Amino acid sequence: MNDLSDLYQSVILDHNRRPRNRGKLPTANRVAHGNNPSCGDECSVYLRLDGDRVAEISFDGSGCAISQASASLMTTQVKGKSASEIEALYKNFHHIVTTGEAPEEINDVAAFAGVHDFPARIKCATLGWHATLNALKGDPVTATTETHKD
Ligand code: ZN
Repeated sequence: MNDLSDLYQSVILDHNRRPRNRGKLPTANRVAHGNNPSCGDECSVYLRLDGDRVAEISFDGSGCAISQASASLMTTQVKGKSASEIEALYKNFHHIVTTGEAPEEINDVAAFAGVHDFPARIKCATLGWHATLNALKGDPVTATTETHKD
């Protein structure tokens, strides 16, 4: 457990220091914006869908360390994946943050099990994922976490 909470701290720090795929994507053909009013987090996701696959993805936003680190990690997870694969990845991630159960394979995603100890932060951690799922649906409407049940 201590190993996992150390990992949690280091993954969040790492993704905040060196965000992956950050910035606008000029070639994007799907865009969605999410916000988490309870914490003040904002996240925009830019996708270039090629058929059913996410060929390119980027995010931009501001807010707490968890929201930005999670969005950064999310972009590395979904690139190259199909919409149904991304939904499965989100279900897995959501399970980890809501139950605190880490998968057997300890990786950067497993580190987010630490969010379970801070329930108010679950919405921070899932914000980028909600925006991505909405972008995949081609829904230009703002993705507020308030409309999603956790
Ligand atoms: Zn937050």
